[in-house]
Amino acid sequence: MKPYPIRCVSIVIPVYNEQDSLPELLRRTEAACRQLHQDYEIVLVDDGSRDNSAQILEDAASRECSPVVAVILNRNYGQHAAIMAGFEQCKGDVVITLDADLQNPPEEIPRLVAQAELGYDVVATVRNNRQDSALRRWPSKLINLAVQRSTGVAMSDYGCMLRAYRRTIVDAMLACRERSTFIPILANSFARHTTEILVTHAEREHGESKYSPMRLISLMFDLITCMTTTPLRLLSIVGFGMAGLGLLFAVMLIVLRLVFGAEWAGDGLFVLFAVLFVFTGGQFIGMGLLGEYLGRMYSDVRARPRFFIEKVLRSHPSTPAPVVTVDGLTSTSSDQVLS
Ligand code: UDP
Ligand code: MG
Repeated sequence: MKPYPIRCVSIVIPVYNEQDSLPELLRRTEAACRQLHQDYEIVLVDDGSRDNSAQILEDAASRECSPVVAVILNRNYGQHAAIMAGFEQCKGDVVITLDADLQNPPEEIPRLVAQAELGYDVVATVRNNRQDSALRRWPSKLINLAVQRSTGVAMSDYGCMLRAYRRTIVDAMLACRERSTFIPILANSFARHTTEILVTHAEREHGESKYSPMRLISLMFDLITCMTTTPLRLLSIVGFGMAGLGLLFAVMLIVLRLVFGAEWAGDGLFVLFAVLFVFTGGQFIGMGLLGEYLGRMYSDVRARPRFFIEKVLRSHPSTPAPVVTVDGLTSTSSDQVLS
């Protein structure tokens, strides 16, 4: 892993009805950024707030020499879409995401930048004393475990949005065309070196969590569909299992009927069960097959880059390397040439 020179740091913060937290958020984030040796910008994305948030952001951005960039969305698109909008507008070599409710302390920003400078593509954080209800903690533990299994990247806290991403990872995420996504998992699919640091987690001081139980369920589906289409395949597996058991049951009934005679068979009642199992199993197999087509269509529609080139090394460049665009990702500036 090579050290990564950083000239500019961008902080991206999604904001949805956070007018009470914003003044303190701006003050603390700017104070933390002043500790950095690099240039910085603070990109705040108003996700269609119905309170005064957008106005506060506009005022902050119009101050003279303000590091604040206000991005105002016309309506509420959700936290992850808002962060993507921020990614599109930021220019830093490293991009740090943060929640606006001050549950993640902005004071940790210099530590994240220091880790990114060491050469990590993604620097994640783990909340060492998570201040949320057990109802929120347990499902998120289960999800972390499932994600670890499916992406192979061992990270312990996907719910914590205080994270740093290298420019190349952000560009790769922007090249993905899907509408619903879960940024920390998407980033991991493009990352090579990742690390985690422990941070404190504060209780929400102003307002309430923007995630109702319904929105949490929808976020969970975003998270699952963003990483895998295995649930679709499970349909076929269940179907094959059920139809197989039904067939075995039918064979067993025939054998028992031959051994013990007609009076044992109970007027064919059990045969009905066997037939039912086979047909229901068949239906599941059919659904699973449809699911397989759907899964493939889904991955085509979201048009993620098929691969992600980290760098290209050439020994004797006779002519300057051409600009190569692969699935929307341009690779020139990060190319390294050995001579
Ligand atoms: N957020 C957003 N759009 C939404 C919901 C939330 O931009 O539709 C922002 C919110 O302002 C906050 C962050 O996403 O900065 C996390 O939201 P919240 O604190 O409500 O989530 P929790 O901490 O309960 O997971
Ligand atoms: Mg929160």
